[in-house]
Amino acid sequence: MPKLASIPRPDGIGVLNLQGGVVEHVRHLKRLGLNPVLVKETGDLSGLAGLIIPGGESTCLGRLLKIFGLDRAIVDEYHRGMKLWGTCAGAILLAGKITAEDPCLALLDIEIARNSFGSQQDSFTDRALIPEISPTELPLTFIRAPKIIKAGPAVRVLWGKDDFIAAAESAGVLVTVFHPELTPCLAFHRYFARKCGMKPLSAAIVPDLDPSWDLTSWTGLLPVS
Ligand code: GLN
Repeated sequence: MPKLASIPRPDGIGVLNLQGGVVEHVRHLKRLGLNPVLVKETGDLSGLAGLIIPGGESTCLGRLLKIFGLDRAIVDEYHRGMKLWGTCAGAILLAGKITAEDPCLALLDIEIARNSFGSQQDSFTDRALIPEISPTELPLTFIRAPKIIKAGPAVRVLWGKDDFIAAAESAGVLVTVFHPELTPCLAFHRYFARKCGMKPLSAAIVPDLDPSWDLTSWTGLLPVS
């Protein structure tokens, strides 16, 4: 029997659980055989290999991060090797520069402009082939999304179109301004889990586009587990 203290945290990926699309990320990670940790306070971060900051409302999330002291704790854990993935509002919080606003965590050398596609009603879907993520064309869902308008030299652009970048990464940080967790796409979650050193189920077992996913899986207001 191993000693309790030597048992690692279950699968080591956390989902920030303050506001926004938490349940949808948790469910995608579970589809990949992972057992994510819900992060609500600084102690929940200990031992995590990675943290997902979900979409939602970045002003609200930024304020809550400060109130709970999670902003500093996340930056500290990042410097200790914890990887980060921000979707939409999460990407805004990770950006080094937010147009006309102060940055929050500032862990990726990008400039991002909030609500750049218009209002909530201008939300839209697209499709893209992103070879670094998947050999399959992936569905993209943009909800009152920001545009990444600049990326520094150390940032790898994964996908962009027209006048904006929509997915980018550094060694420690991944950002997407769209929401894979609101589509059947598991490829980004698998990619992030591997970036964190985890072993998610392979595409041979759960394909990049999960056939068991349907729209009601996130509009059905079901409990997390
Ligand atoms: N418009 C939101 C913001 O600026 C982000 C929207 C989202 O996360 N889908 O914070």
